[in-house]
Amino acid sequence: MLCALLCALAIPASAERLPGTASAFDVTWDARLGAAERDKLARWLGRAARTVRMLHGELPRDDIRIVVETRRGAGEPVPFARVLRRGREGVHFWVDPAFPLERFLTDWTAPHELSHLFIPYPGKTDVWLSEGLATYYQHLLQARDGLITECMAWRRIAAGFARGSAAMSGETTRRPLAAASRDMHALGSYMRVYWSGVAYFLEADLALRTGTPALSLDRVMQRFGQCCLDDGDITDGAALVAAFDHVAGTALFVPLYDRFRALETMPDYAALLARVGVHTEGGETGCVRGDGPAARIRRDITLVDGERDAAASGP
Ligand SMILES: [Zn+2]
Repeated sequence: MLCALLCALAIPASAERLPGTASAFDVTWDARLGAAERDKLARWLGRAARTVRMLHGELPRDDIRIVVETRRGAGEPVPFARVLRRGREGVHFWVDPAFPLERFLTDWTAPHELSHLFIPYPGKTDVWLSEGLATYYQHLLQARDGLITECMAWRRIAAGFARGSAAMSGETTRRPLAAASRDMHALGSYMRVYWSGVAYFLEADLALRTGTPALSLDRVMQRFGQCCLDDGDITDGAALVAAFDHVAGTALFVPLYDRFRALETMPDYAALLARVGVHTEGGETGCVRGDGPAARIRRDITLVDGERDAAASGP
């Protein structure tokens, strides 16, 4: 965080309120960017805003600070990024502008980092909630916006769960998820922390969508944003999940949180994937299956309304 702030100040820069993002993005450009590069990156950020709106229709905040700094020769379009929490919230991106627009549009970094802004930072011990939410939505939102296919989104989610499981297989000390989160950087337990969090939100989403009345994680995030996002009292995971239950009118997120934070293994992600019609066999992930209740709920989660209707009435 400190580096992000200092680096942002150290570079010569110019500011711009970005058109096409409902004026929500207040962008500080690295002055070393050429006009064509800036135009390309503005189109990338504009599309990222559209992608993130696929969650519930609005960006997480009306005024989002974006810092774009160049990092050439990094081997990928967005080699680093960091959420900015102090003052106006936003995201600091380090980019290699040599990459074509298409590579920026299919990169997952912007949907991931911007999704972080839908909830406050819950602290290190509960960072699995923060990373889980952003990682869950980075794939779903890219699919909803047509940047990747439904199949690709679920392949990536299934592959992520498998990576979390593989990373844990070499561990000799059993730790609850809360401890693996608190010491994530020292332990290198990133895969377990991120993908346990994804399983938490997938399980919650499935419970909401199959409950009465039917809800969704999207609606819970929307209601949370309206009532509680700016509530300075929410500084840890316990308060966060209590607020989710409050806006959902249910007792779901708190008991699920208590169970997950004590887990000493990966959650049962195979059962979750089966409930949405995604099958893993021998480490390989089958693609999505086309019919039945599991396919319907998967489409509800993955597709935007028009595509969902077309899929339901298709051949
Ligand atoms: Zn993240």
